[in-house]
Amino acid sequence: MSEESLIEWTGGTLNPTLGCSKVGRECANCYAMSDAHRMAHNPNPAVSALYSGLVEKSAAGRLNWTGVVRTAPERLLTPFGWAKHKLVFLNSLSDLFHDEVPDDFIAMTFAMMKACDWHVFQVLTKRADRLADLAPRLPWPANVWMGVSVGVQEAAGRVDRLRAVPARVRFLSCEPLLEPLDLDLTGIHWVITGGESGRHCRPFDPAWAADIRDRCGAAGVAFFHKQNGGRNKKKAGRLLDGREHDDMPRPDRAPVPDAAERLKRQEEFRAAFGL
Ligand code: SF4
Repeated sequence: MSEESLIEWTGGTLNPTLGCSKVGRECANCYAMSDAHRMAHNPNPAVSALYSGLVEKSAAGRLNWTGVVRTAPERLLTPFGWAKHKLVFLNSLSDLFHDEVPDDFIAMTFAMMKACDWHVFQVLTKRADRLADLAPRLPWPANVWMGVSVGVQEAAGRVDRLRAVPARVRFLSCEPLLEPLDLDLTGIHWVITGGESGRHCRPFDPAWAADIRDRCGAAGVAFFHKQNGGRNKKKAGRLLDGREHDDMPRPDRAPVPDAAERLKRQEEFRAAFGL
């Protein structure tokens, strides 16, 4: 599956794993749960089967993950067909480094990203310990950007795990930003901030993001402010001190191969992983 993304800092999404479980305060209002719940009721049985059982609804009507995680390997074939450069947010609706995702599947996903070197893939996780464990066994081509989410101070240790990962671009997603953060930005190339949005959103103070922006400026780190959040996200906008902040690293990617070459790489990938 792929789609044009409404997320301001990427160009599209690809979700080869489905389902997740909460790891901390930042996950309280995880938007992916309502997406998965809606898809489980899709009239197309092929779609609903993929999503069924991932999310449960309490008597009070609150959604939560069941902890079931499913892989969808055929989705890894999709980027081979894209005939234009794309900036792709991988796993916008789950976490590739979740304990229930097999090591082999993570390796397969990285092999796909390496083969599709005309796209840039942005991979974001909250499971930084598993990322650090697996990183030495994964390929790190220049078109794979690796990030961790850090929205609360107690998650700052994730940045230390990320620092040891040999990705060309290491980034932080400080969203939802729930409090002021004191982060060591050594070895980090890009930081994204944003307040929480939606019906149950928690308070956001733009001064927290402005402080991170100033720390990025001092450390020579690119800074992107996505949104000020709130129940009315459009109204709150994305200005900090009266202006937008849209910096991001320069994508490092290969020219788009012709159709025959893309098909050849897809067939080689299929053969290597028995797809
Ligand atoms: S890690 Fe991401 S997808 Fe998983 S529960 Fe937390 S916010 Fe949701």
